[in-house]
Amino acid sequence: MENKLSSLKNIKSLLIATNNKGKLLEIKKLLPKHITFYSPKDFNLLEPIENAKTFEGNAVIKAKYCAQKSKLVSLSDDSGLEISSLSGEPGVYSARWAGKNKNFKIAIKKVYIKIKKKNNLKKLNAARFYCSLAIAFPNGNYKTFSGTVSGKISTRPRGNNGFGYDPIFIPKGYKKTFGEMKADFKDKISHRYKAFSKIKKYFKY
Ligand code: IMP
Repeated sequence: MENKLSSLKNIKSLLIATNNKGKLLEIKKLLPKHITFYSPKDFNLLEPIENAKTFEGNAVIKAKYCAQKSKLVSLSDDSGLEISSLSGEPGVYSARWAGKNKNFKIAIKKVYIKIKKKNNLKKLNAARFYCSLAIAFPNGNYKTFSGTVSGKISTRPRGNNGFGYDPIFIPKGYKKTFGEMKADFKDKISHRYKAFSKIKKYFKY
């Protein structure tokens, strides 16, 4: 079920369906400035169970849940890292690899242990970040947009910028990891940026 709004310019309030501070920062910068943003906490919303097998499926679960509960247009982001030599893992489980405390040092350690078991870290470990954005309306309609950025896993974590797996991902055509790049630079080449470019085109803002 889809809903074609003529423009995001007509939206005054938007709920961003995430409690991830890193994502929230990046998302706000990519949306029109006139919008007042709300978070799930403003409506005391719990996190819905993300039991879909795809990024799109989970993005839709989050956006629809928030739109239905808050009666506001809601935008969600489901994203993650897919590593070729690990058959696409961690994929939709990217957040879950960090455990309940969302400790990405643990998740990154897990990546290196698994890669070492499979092959040699000196080999190219192709990887990509995938982002699926879903916009849901209180009437149940929704639309999804996706973006990817290809690259490889660095031989060791580098840089403290960004969040999640940023210190171990080197985008294609660059030497630095996302963790070593300035936020404004990452924001111009990232999977999230690419998905937002499609939203921008669709909603004409
Ligand atoms: P979820 O979409 O909230 O289920 O979680 C996605 C997880 O993927 C995040 O918690 C991050 O660990 C990871 N992820 C998604 N996008 C990025 C990114 O831009 N940089 C680093 N990690 C990311």
